[in-house]
Amino acid sequence: MLDNIKILEKSNDHLIFILDNIDLYIANSIRRAIIAEIPTLAIEDVIFYENSSSIHDEFIALRLGLIPLIAKIDEFNFRDKCECNGKGCKSCTAYFKLEAEGPKTVYSHDLKVIEDDRVIVPKNIPIIKLGRKQRLVLEAEAILGRGKDHAKWQAGIAAYKYYPEIRINYERCTLCKNCIEECPRKVLKLEDDKIVLKDVIRCNLCKACEEACPEEALNLNGNEKKLIFKIEVINKSYKPEELFIKACEILKEKAQELKKKLY
Ligand SMILES: [Zn+2]
Repeated sequence: MLDNIKILEKSNDHLIFILDNIDLYIANSIRRAIIAEIPTLAIEDVIFYENSSSIHDEFIALRLGLIPLIAKIDEFNFRDKCECNGKGCKSCTAYFKLEAEGPKTVYSHDLKVIEDDRVIVPKNIPIIKLGRKQRLVLEAEAILGRGKDHAKWQAGIAAYKYYPEIRINYERCTLCKNCIEECPRKVLKLEDDKIVLKDVIRCNLCKACEEACPEEALNLNGNEKKLIFKIEVINKSYKPEELFIKACEILKEKAQELKKKLY
């Protein structure tokens, strides 16, 4: 099924690679699992003790929920499957407190984790601006969730496209370079008297090169069995390659569950 993976680009927050000889429905299942199924930690409940700011409690709670908390996900239980029966305990919940008085801008790092080395709050995300003597005092609880429950739990973004392949009939090609000039993304180059597709990542298969060729010597097509797969991390609890592996594990678990029910 899966013969070949070749990495094209890799950093801490994104990964682009070629998936060769793969069926589309499998690639799409992995893509969907990355977006919707991988658990992360996000703030779900907020108790306000004081809020004399200009913004309602609900808006502040929503903004707190969107902070992408970095956590050791494996060390948390889902609250609904926890031994506390959904009441909330240390095994399924991270606790935070925030106390601030204006004039000041309240940032994500003003939210303090209460004795928990499993969680890091990312810095410098503005939450609210407090005027003089305006006060904000609250406690918050973060729990595990999945992207399919709410976007605040989405771990990453994944997308793919067909691998672009260029074919040139050199009996017809006059090397007029029209195709190179007309390409809006400038992905074609002339190399040793040959037109070559140099940047497969940026080619979006628009076929402007094909249309620009007066001799109809150029043919650009996407290979449906060879995909360029891109993963971007939203929540830094994971590296991009971990998202891919985790998504495959989740799909495997789902398949095993189905098998158990069938036999
Ligand atoms: Zn619990």
